[in-house]
Amino acid sequence: MQSWVRWAAVIGAVLVAAACSRGVDGRRIEAADASEWLSYGRTYDEQRFSPLKQIDTATVGKLGVAWWAEFDTDRGQEATPLVADGVLYTTTAWSKVAAFDAKTGKPLWKYDPKVPGEAGFNACCDVVNRGAALWKGRLYVGTLDGRLVALDAKTGQVAWDVQTTDKSRPYTITGAPRVVDGKVLIGNGGAEYGVRGYVSAYDAASGKLAWRFYTTPNPTGAPDGAASDKVFREKATATWSDGVWKESGGGGTVWDAITYDPQTGLVYIGVGNGTPWNHKLRSGGKGDNLFLASIVALRPDTGEYVWHYQTTPGESWDYTATQHIMLADLLIAGKPTRVVMQAPKNGFFYVLDARTGRLISAEKFVPVDWAERVDLKSGRPVEAPFARYEKGAMSNQMVGALGGHNWHPMAFNPKTGLVYIPAQHGRGFYADPTDFKYVAGAWNTGMLRIPEGPGAKPVLTRPNNRAAARGELIAWDPVTQKKRWSVMFPHMTTSGVLATDGGLVFHSAERRLVAYDAAKGRPLWSYDLGARAIAPASTYAIDGEQYLALMVGAGGAGNFDQPRQRGRLLVFKLGGTVKPPPYPKPADLPALDLKLATPSAGDADRGGVVYDQFCSGCHGRGVFLPNLTRSPAILEPEGFKAIVLDGALKANGMAPFRRFFDEKRAEDIRAFLLWQAKTAPPPTPEEPRHAQ
Ligand code: CA
Repeated sequence: MQSWVRWAAVIGAVLVAAACSRGVDGRRIEAADASEWLSYGRTYDEQRFSPLKQIDTATVGKLGVAWWAEFDTDRGQEATPLVADGVLYTTTAWSKVAAFDAKTGKPLWKYDPKVPGEAGFNACCDVVNRGAALWKGRLYVGTLDGRLVALDAKTGQVAWDVQTTDKSRPYTITGAPRVVDGKVLIGNGGAEYGVRGYVSAYDAASGKLAWRFYTTPNPTGAPDGAASDKVFREKATATWSDGVWKESGGGGTVWDAITYDPQTGLVYIGVGNGTPWNHKLRSGGKGDNLFLASIVALRPDTGEYVWHYQTTPGESWDYTATQHIMLADLLIAGKPTRVVMQAPKNGFFYVLDARTGRLISAEKFVPVDWAERVDLKSGRPVEAPFARYEKGAMSNQMVGALGGHNWHPMAFNPKTGLVYIPAQHGRGFYADPTDFKYVAGAWNTGMLRIPEGPGAKPVLTRPNNRAAARGELIAWDPVTQKKRWSVMFPHMTTSGVLATDGGLVFHSAERRLVAYDAAKGRPLWSYDLGARAIAPASTYAIDGEQYLALMVGAGGAGNFDQPRQRGRLLVFKLGGTVKPPPYPKPADLPALDLKLATPSAGDADRGGVVYDQFCSGCHGRGVFLPNLTRSPAILEPEGFKAIVLDGALKANGMAPFRRFFDEKRAEDIRAFLLWQAKTAPPPTPEEPRHAQ
């Protein structure tokens, strides 16, 4: 080797070492070295496209497990593993964090933020966490109980830990933070219960709040002293009318998408549904209710408002626009255009000008009947007359509250020009309640409750929408707004997606991880995961070998009916030969011997109503966490009360309910469950009511 080449190599190595000791920063994320996965969506534009191509259409058949790990939680696993400087970082259910040697799988450190179990009650859709963020030697994670924690990326030691939410409100954090120029951006969830949404920026070094942008007006009418004050004063507050939002906070949580674009210098946040969902109850049926169900562009240094696009004005169906926001350069009418793309719950695929928010196009990517089309001039959906159930008739419309697409990330391959969407087909039943009362901290969607006790005369029958539910992986051309290829699945919820320059799309459904040919959608390789995966895979390379990492574990919205198995991280490479042991067969609770039950003097009809409001969110009607009609806890009143009212099982996520009802109501619920245990057919998964 010539000496100058040798010296260049030495200097290069020194520079790399210096970069590593500095840790991850904006320049490194923007440079996007193919061998690493430094940020939630890999790069700031969140295309989830890796330039790695050792694993390609020809070699993928040799993919096998290189190493794996099992975690101590058996709830949903939604995280995207990050990889930097040879270390893989992931988060698990209950906001726990783990670091591994990315090549060997050797565990390096673990961190448990010790989220109180009862915080699980505030989570509509399981105690999940979607991932962490890296910045200058630290790892940042949001916790289910509303904290943002900075950890030393080398040791897992806590550098700082700040509460980002009002603990008297049912806020949660499940989304991944993003770091822009030394500020950690974090949102929150809770809009099914009653919170006021916002996104916050914290100084990465000190943990000090830099700015906050609220997505709904301050119910007191006073300014917040926040970045959002100006836009609410000038235009957004006027889009709200009198209604329950003044008690509930209005919703609009920023629980998932936060995307930064170094090209436009803007950060785009995705805003969720209203509290309650029902527009008539929330805002007297009047006004667009900014910024619900919107994409909002902000300046990352100050939180200043720049533009917004509202996908669903006067949101009334849980049609969040929190879903994955992706940036790309597309040829629009022959002109290179920087665009924002989103496939929100409402079933339309949106392409917007990233600089101005101008609507370029919006088309249905799944069967949708709640709106005929999106009017390109006004940017508003042309609603079907039946969709506004709150005006009288009920509606059973496509799509429902689980959405045409939920949080599961999409991927974009700039070479095929296709966006790969893990889409969902389904109907949702919506009806106006006769007796809605906002109950602080409880499920407050403003929907009709259908009595189900022994003496209840149903006012109507809930339609069985299970038959309409399907999953679909769609390869979508965002320029022509047309489907190029797709694969259908019997279950609605599938996993997030990864695209690679090996011409592959990785996606999992029905417990299998599958590699598809990116151009045509032919399945080229698949692997039996043993349990359902909902998370997207990430990929990286070390010492000339490409790896693919995937979190496995069912749970989350639409997946409460899955067997609860411990979360696993599987890491694949070409020629990998490791065989993780099969999961244990899930144990089903045996039917109860009801002769052993202490008879209940409770009112089973009233119990059914209370159960519907407070219990069915997690326990469903006989299928979820766990199946209560088979739980020995319902056999006698004292133990039942200790669990339901006093929190005997709060460490598991079963919150104490004494703040909502008394001993009489608890006994009514027991009477209802005993009646159900006697009359109910064996448990079968039903239409999921979980939304997110
Ligand atoms: Ca929601």
